[in-house]
Amino acid sequence: MDVLGIGAIDGHREPALRELADRALEKGRSAAARGRVSQQIPALGSVDPSLFGIAVATVDGAVVTAGDSTVPFSLQSLTKLFSLCALLRHEPTAWEQVGWGPSEAGFGSVAELEQHQGRPRNPFVNAGALVVTDRLVHHASDAAESVGRLMQELSGEEVAGDPRVAASEAASDHRNRAIAHVLTEHGRLLNSVDDVLDHYFRQCSLTATTTAVARSALFLADRSSHRGPLDTATIRRVNAVLLTAGMYGAAGDIAYRVGLPAKSGIGGGVLAVMPGVGAICAYSPPLDVTGNSVGGIAAIEEFARLAGWSVF
Ligand code: GLN
Repeated sequence: MDVLGIGAIDGHREPALRELADRALEKGRSAAARGRVSQQIPALGSVDPSLFGIAVATVDGAVVTAGDSTVPFSLQSLTKLFSLCALLRHEPTAWEQVGWGPSEAGFGSVAELEQHQGRPRNPFVNAGALVVTDRLVHHASDAAESVGRLMQELSGEEVAGDPRVAASEAASDHRNRAIAHVLTEHGRLLNSVDDVLDHYFRQCSLTATTTAVARSALFLADRSSHRGPLDTATIRRVNAVLLTAGMYGAAGDIAYRVGLPAKSGIGGGVLAVMPGVGAICAYSPPLDVTGNSVGGIAAIEEFARLAGWSVF
């Protein structure tokens, strides 16, 4: 019996996974009440807190869903994963520019950047993500468009920007602007602060369903083929950095509770990858104090426990 994968439920795989997704949804819904919808971007502040969707995609072709899995949501920092992958296609050595270590500070820390001479800790804190977007502008001219296109190619679903959300973040943000100025002062951006922020806010405003996100991330779980955009060695590194930094200061907690490489966004999305098996995305807008979806994490924790998904 394969306790680490889905082999144990072979034969009735999709119905069994659907049952696990339903149970995870139930668990996640009750946990969501402990969170609060982010007010950081005014246009996202009034999102319905009761929305809850789950999608699971496996490397052998199963896709199962539960709840509001077809509702597109604001991806926000989930896009940082795909912008990193898009950049690594053009520039495999980009790690040197963005770092790969964990960070104890919040995703929007300016102080941490100052402490490290303007060198971001990893591609998933905002400082690192701004450097990624900046370099993607250099290679692909429109960073937001190339991230959306990559996700669209990988998922076969539409991944579109939301100009209202991008404009709302651009009008209310001071923190990313501060980070971009510190990066510029240390000579770490190729483009102007205004250009980088424009591309970054449009990139963060991309919207997609949980199904599209799970499908887009599936190549990170696929050990057997060369169909994906990145080679195996790069995929291993991306997963390693997701495990140590994808959930910001909560990464250790998520490694302990869930045991999977994961990425979150303040829109309420959480994505986790089970190497060799599949990917799961949960969407629930209320967040905890670290900016991660409370219900989304609880649902993925439950699914991983029931399915036996863990890298450990
Ligand atoms: N657009 C948001 C920001 O840059 C994304 C943050 C997040 O999802 N964690 O702050």
